Amino acid sequence: MDSESPKLEMVFIPFIAPGHMIPMVDLARLIASHGVRVTIIITTHNALIFKKAIDRDIETGNPINLHILPFPFAQVGLPEGIENLGSLTSPDQTAKVSMGAMLLQKPIEQILRDRAPDCIVSDMFYPWTADVAAQLGIPRIWFQGSSFTALCAAHSVESNAPHEKVTSDTETFVVPGLPDRLEMTRLQLPDHVRSKTPYGALLDLIGEAETRSYGVLMNSFYELEPSYIDHFKSVIGKKAWHIGPVSLCLSKYDKANRGQNSVVDAHKCLSWLDSKKANSVLYVSFGSLAKFRAPQLHEIALALQASSHPFIWVIRYEETTKDQMWLPDGFKERMNGLMIHGWAPQVLILEHPAIGGFMTHCGWNSILESVTAGVPLIAWPMYAEQFYNEKLVTQIAKIGVGVGAEEWYNLIDDERKVLVKREKIEKAVLRLMDSGDEAEKIRERAKEFGEKAKSVVEVGGSSYNDLTGLIDELVRLRASTAVGWMDSPKSRVNPIHPT
Ligand code: UDP
Repeated sequence: MDSESPKLEMVFIPFIAPGHMIPMVDLARLIASHGVRVTIIITTHNALIFKKAIDRDIETGNPINLHILPFPFAQVGLPEGIENLGSLTSPDQTAKVSMGAMLLQKPIEQILRDRAPDCIVSDMFYPWTADVAAQLGIPRIWFQGSSFTALCAAHSVESNAPHEKVTSDTETFVVPGLPDRLEMTRLQLPDHVRSKTPYGALLDLIGEAETRSYGVLMNSFYELEPSYIDHFKSVIGKKAWHIGPVSLCLSKYDKANRGQNSVVDAHKCLSWLDSKKANSVLYVSFGSLAKFRAPQLHEIALALQASSHPFIWVIRYEETTKDQMWLPDGFKERMNGLMIHGWAPQVLILEHPAIGGFMTHCGWNSILESVTAGVPLIAWPMYAEQFYNEKLVTQIAKIGVGVGAEEWYNLIDDERKVLVKREKIEKAVLRLMDSGDEAEKIRERAKEFGEKAKSVVEVGGSSYNDLTGLIDELVRLRASTAVGWMDSPKSRVNPIHPT
């Protein structure tokens, strides 16, 4: 950026779920570290999670601040403090927190009008920010916390409807027009693809807002999914920047309490890992939202017991309080592992050399954090775009094995019909953790991707270049606003570098 011109100003609006908020705050901090003036609009209790880290950034001279808004607890009937989908204490709170997020529209719009920044970076779940951006005559970039592979696959399924050409939910079909031959079943597709749902209607609104946006910011890196990044830009024709892995901007302190306060002492956890051999421990965690019913937890426990590899197993509170009876007799006495009931310091754990595998629900942040740490994966996709992410892990980058999950499920209804049985889980664990030829190759590739992930954020790396390229482009765009970047449909896609 030209040191004479006023600093570029960007406002970030994260959505109130950990898998969206965590990477978006990292992203905002990363951009501020490049001298851009950054404001993050965030609600009171969510702000507490990030405040210390932001204060440290400010002390080091980065131009970043939090604009804190009260969450409308009373209006939606929630107890004070419940303002994030990752901290719910009962299922009925999901809709209330989402409603609270909707009520934030008016106050956020006012902040945007008052600040009139040079650019809005908004979570995909706030499509209305496209309208405010248009009124202010500034670009809106949306943040999409998923892989390019998932975006391309979802786009193909929605455009070609290959699932309508098969005769049963379990018959496989090929997702057409992609760089690789990816096969899926109807049962693995989100419910809104298979039938009309209210969530599908929201996604239509989100998609429509995207057509009026300047482009998308992605927490990924070119070397991880090059053909899907190229496909996204050239075939789908949207402008995108891949600037990840954003977790690499974190300090050791940030990692210990990232996203929530960890329920375990990070030092104790790391010293337990210190006592284990390199690559010997399996980390088992299913993100911030997934919950299992007792029978599925029982199957996981039996599989871990049978595989006899040391493990760290993160279990969400809700699961354990609902039913304490699912653990096999004597499991805790016999286990060579740690069970963490609540929030774990995931990035710190994954970085420890003793971790040899990560059994994950294929949330995009978890995959990328594992890739960054060079840790191979056991892919157990569940909801959202996770079945597409699984393909990247097992077939495209080939850095993991699948557990054989058959059924997509809706996080809110949680009515999974198909259990993943202990035999399948144990088989996947042994395939990855017992050092056969296949496991060695996967491990080697995961390590190589880990090295690449670290190099792309260094000066001259692909993510570094994309990030500085974005900043330069926004500066040029600001200088050319006399033309008005949204004047013609063509300029909507990219007024500066038409594709
Ligand atoms: N996470 C964590 N500790 C936990 C559970 C989750 O730090 O005990 C973090 C994890 O590192 C990741 C995010 O929460 O950054 C979860 O995002 P992901 O996309 O993997 O899954 P989601 O929760 O959105 O389904």
